[in-house]
Amino acid sequence: MAASFPAKKALNLEPADPGGTPAETKFTRKPKLGGLKSRKKEIPEGLWTKCPKCSSMIYDKELDENLKVCPRCGHHFPIGARERIHALVETCSFEEMDAQMTSVDVLGFTGVAAYTDKLAAYQQSTGLKDAVITGQGVIGSHRVALGVMDFGFLGGSMGSVVGEKLTRLIEAATERGLPLIIISTSGGARMYEGMFSLMQMAKTSAALAYHTRNRIPFISLLTHPTTAGVMASYASLGDLIIAEPGAMIGFAGPRVIKDTTQAELPPGFQTAEFLQDHGFIDAIVPRKELGDKLVTYLDFLLEGQRRLAALP
Ligand SMILES: [Zn+2]
Repeated sequence: MAASFPAKKALNLEPADPGGTPAETKFTRKPKLGGLKSRKKEIPEGLWTKCPKCSSMIYDKELDENLKVCPRCGHHFPIGARERIHALVETCSFEEMDAQMTSVDVLGFTGVAAYTDKLAAYQQSTGLKDAVITGQGVIGSHRVALGVMDFGFLGGSMGSVVGEKLTRLIEAATERGLPLIIISTSGGARMYEGMFSLMQMAKTSAALAYHTRNRIPFISLLTHPTTAGVMASYASLGDLIIAEPGAMIGFAGPRVIKDTTQAELPPGFQTAEFLQDHGFIDAIVPRKELGDKLVTYLDFLLEGQRRLAALP
């Protein structure tokens, strides 16, 4: 599913003056424009971000330094795959795999915009080749196979490239005995690739089945939002399934479910917290604690793996 760019801000129309009468309009126009100008000066565009949860204005630099988490209320903003990897792995330890793999327009898809045009536009705007980065890196003292999705690239949708890169990552992890970590964020399968995108669900799940057979840990981290075909395949297959606070996680959207079941949905439905209460998610981990927590989980899971291997 494609994420659309936010619509360009409408031209600044003059706000209606509740106390004004039509006769006054001519005289009030000038000071009002001045007022708008000075307000703009106070909050230069692109330097501040308003938190959707607590409404406080956050200085962008502060937000970046805080891993895109609101310093006032802890709201988790979306974060790019590269920033996430940079924050998570030991410096210079990340070796990317299949960095040049790009999608092909198998169906010759043309709708409102051609698929090839969309790909080119997103490659330009994000600096990514597709919606996932895969590779090996070191977290704490553990060498891991790491896949990180990026919602900024066509809504993190899973097409042939996302599926193939993740499958190769899983296979490399199995072959080398490396624990696997996949950080998901996705609107689901990439509709521009039709059946080819849906096939990736089976392909990634099959690769994970081999990985599990070798008793090598797989930790799946679900971030806002993780839905549809990605949720229905590898994202929900972790030995340990963890999530970021407040993440929206589910298969179909709440409106579709409501229309289909004709039932009222419970409060907090499809949030990470709700799913933890219902046993689907093992832990909710704030972004800033992720590195330390992963080390703890890996220590635990790998010790279990060693003990199992030692059994007669
Ligand atoms: Zn906030």
